[in-house]
Formats: sequence, structure tokens, C-alpha cells
Amino acid sequence: MTTKSGKTVFVDCNDTLIAVRYANRNDTAPEGYRSIERDGQHYHVQARPSALAFVQALAEDGHDVVVLTGGSTRIQYLLLSLGGLNREIDEVIGFENSGKTEIPQNWVLVDDLQGGSTSFDEKLGMLGISRKRLGDKKYDELIAKRCIQCSSFKGGEDAHPLTGLLDDVRAKLAA
Ligand SMILES: [Mg+2]
Repeated sequence: MTTKSGKTVFVDCNDTLIAVRYANRNDTAPEGYRSIERDGQHYHVQARPSALAFVQALAEDGHDVVVLTGGSTRIQYLLLSLGGLNREIDEVIGFENSGKTEIPQNWVLVDDLQGGSTSFDEKLGMLGISRKRLGDKKYDELIAKRCIQCSSFKGGEDAHPLTGLLDDVRAKLAA
């Protein structure tokens, strides 16, 4: 049992921890993907090869690992389970329970999206952070201090493993 450090690593789900494709009923999952159906929607899912080691290392550091996703909490949790990633994850925050989260004192966000994109602003909005309220300067400073962009994982080769970001995550949490 790890002692929680009071530090939280928010991690994006799609294209960060897993690659997921919407599929039709009769589509065969491409090699390396697993197939699942929920509520009539079919998905093909592949865990990023470096994802498990990444979240395990963060859990071993004693940090809370919270998946922050624009998708549905239930579906994303299911997709993470399918990728074998659910065990090390403390919570999944999707659009339904966004805004109900208390932001911890010390946190970072790892996401394949970058600052400046609307979806990324929406993601920070889920944590109650808005550019409008903070002003451009503080908002950009907060992104530089708290956010780490990873490369998008679309399946197949994991050319830029998430584990390569561990030092940066640790440095930001220690700052
Ligand atoms: Mg993403």
C-alpha cells in the first residue's frame, strides 16, 4: 500500500493512454486492437505500450493518478479496463462529473492536446480553470507550470513512450 503524496497526475485518455477507434458492427479489429461494444457502439481499443509502466511509476511515487477525459466516465473506464490500465488509476473524471472535482494543491496534466486548442481549454475548464477568469498571462503561466504535452498515440508503434515524460512530471510536481 502506497502512502498518497497529496499530488495528483491528471492524464488524458484517448490518444494518450489508449488508441481508440469507433467501429461498425462487422468491422474486424485491426491487429493489436481489442473489440468491445457498449450501448450499440463498437470500439476498437489498444493500450499504449508505455502506458502501464507510466501509471505504475506514478502510483509507486505515491501520486494519485486521475484520468481526465472529455468522454463519458463509464465508457472511458471500460476502455481503460480493456487496456489493462484500470488498476493503477484512482479515478476517471469525464464530462458528467466535471466541475465537481476539487483541484489538489499540487498537480500536473499530461495530454496529447496542446495549449491554444479549444479542446485543451475545455479540459482545463473541467478543473475550473478558465483563461477568461485568469487572464492570458496567468493562464499561460499555469499551462507552462502544470501541463505536459505528450505525442498522440494512434496505435501501433509507441515512438515516444510516456515513460520518457516521468522526469518532467516529477520535476513539475517538485517545483
Ligand atoms: Mg487525447
